[in-house]
Amino acid sequence: MTNEELWRSALTEMELTISKANFITWFKNTAIAHNENGVITVNVPNAFTKEWLENKYHKFILRSLRLNSPEVRSIAYSISASPQKQASTPDPFLLKKRPSTDLPPGEEQLEFQEFNVDKETNLNPRYTFSNFIVGSFNELAHAAAQSVVKNIGTIYNPLFIYGGVGLGKTHLLQAIGNEAKKLNPALRVRYLSSETFTNDLIAAIQNNEPQKFKDRYRTFDLLIIDDIQFIAGKARTQEEFFHTFNTLYEHNKQVVFSSDRPPKSIQDLEERLRSRFEAGLIADISDPDYETRLAILKSKAANKTPEPDLELLEYIASAVEKNIRELEGALNSVLVRMRTSGRTPSLEEVKQILAQINTKPQKVITASKIIKEVCVFYDTTEKHLFERSRRREIVKPRQIAMYLLREDFRGSYPYIGQKFGGRDHTTAIHAFEKISRDLKKDQKLADEIKLLKDHIYNS
Ligand code: ADP
Ligand code: MG
Repeated sequence: MTNEELWRSALTEMELTISKANFITWFKNTAIAHNENGVITVNVPNAFTKEWLENKYHKFILRSLRLNSPEVRSIAYSISASPQKQASTPDPFLLKKRPSTDLPPGEEQLEFQEFNVDKETNLNPRYTFSNFIVGSFNELAHAAAQSVVKNIGTIYNPLFIYGGVGLGKTHLLQAIGNEAKKLNPALRVRYLSSETFTNDLIAAIQNNEPQKFKDRYRTFDLLIIDDIQFIAGKARTQEEFFHTFNTLYEHNKQVVFSSDRPPKSIQDLEERLRSRFEAGLIADISDPDYETRLAILKSKAANKTPEPDLELLEYIASAVEKNIRELEGALNSVLVRMRTSGRTPSLEEVKQILAQINTKPQKVITASKIIKEVCVFYDTTEKHLFERSRRREIVKPRQIAMYLLREDFRGSYPYIGQKFGGRDHTTAIHAFEKISRDLKKDQKLADEIKLLKDHIYNS
C-alpha cells in the first residue's frame, strides 16, 4: 500500500466516525509524508491543526491507520506547506491559546461521543432522516430513499443515488440503513464503501473463497454500497460483483448505491453492470439553493454555544455555494473561532476564516447587493423595483434583478417572488425565462448584464 492509499483508507474510516465538519476542519490538506517501518509522519497545514490532531485525535488516527496497516507504530505531525497552498501567514489569534484547554470536559482523546458506528451494520446513528434537510435539490433522492425503507427489496431495486461531493449521499444512504433498522430491528443491514467492498472481494479471490464471499453478502437484506464509481476499471471486481448483485437481486434483497455520477457516465464499467444499475430507480442530488443552504446552517448551528447570529449564517450561506460538507466546515471553523475568542467575529474576520479553508469568499454576493447594484445601474430605487408598477423602465430592471437572483445567487422562485413585494413565484419564473430568452438574441442586453455583473462582483 502506498502512503497515499494508506492515508486515504484511514481518512475514509475516520470520515465515517467523526462529524463532517470536524473532518473537513482537521483533516483537509493532510497527507502522509513518510512511513519508515511503521513510524509515520503526517503533514498538516498549520500549527493549529497539529495541536488538535496531537491533543484530540491522535489515538483515533493511530487506530484508523492500524486498521489498514497493523505495522504502524507511531505518528508524528509535521507542519508543511505541501501538499496544498498554505494560508499565507499563521493566524496569531488562533495560536495564542492552547486549544486543548478549550475542549469541553470529557472530550479527550478518542472518548468523544461521535465514535459510535455500529460494528455489525457499519451505520453511524447520527445520520438520520430527521436531521436531513430536504429542498428541491434533493427531494427526489429523499423521497426514493424513504420509499425504499418502507418497501425493502420490492419497489426500487436497486436504488441508485448520484450527486457531487459533499451533497449528502452518504448521509442519505446511512439514514436509509438506520431507519430500516429502526422499523425492523431483525433486518440484516450492511453499509460499506465500495473500497471496503472491493478489498473484501479481493481478499476472497486471493484466498480462493469467492463462494464464501457471495454467501456472506447474501445474508444481508439491505446492502448499501457508497461511492460505487470506484469500481470503474476494476474488471475482476466488476465480474464478481455482477454475480453477487444478481444473487442478491434474485433473493429480493434490497441494494442501494451511491455514486458521484450517473451510471451512464461511469467510465470503464461493464455494460451488463451498468444496465443493472439502471434497472431500478436513479435519483440525483443537485446543488442546494441559497435558502436551503441557510436552512442547513440554521439547523446545524442550533443548540451550539455560542450560537452564531443570523447575519453570520447568511454570510456563510452566500459564500459557500456548492458543497454542504464545506458549508459545515465553514460553520465549524467560525464556531471554533467564536469559542476561542469569546465573541462573534466580524464579517471581515469570517471572510478571512473562509479564505483559510479555501472556499471562495471573494465571490460573495448577497441578494441585497444584487438589488442595490441593479438600482444604481438603471438609476431607479428599490421602492420602485418592489412596487407594482408596470412601467417599462421599471419592469426591465426588476426582471433583470430577478434573473440575477436566480442565475447567480441561486435563489428559489418563491424566495425571489417574496423578495419583490410578495409576488407569486410564477412572476419570478416568467422574469427569469424572459431575460434568458432575450439574452440569446439581444446583444445589447447581454453587454448590459455583463457590465452589471462586473459592478456586482467587483465593487
Ligand atoms: P457525500 O457523501 O455526498 O459526499 P455527505 O453525506 O458526506 O456527502 O454530506 C456532507 C455533510 O453534509 C455531512 O455532514 C452531512 O450530514 C451534511 N449534509 C448533507 N446533506 C444534508 C442535508 N440535506 N441536510 C443536512 N445535512 C446534510
Ligand atoms: Mg460520501
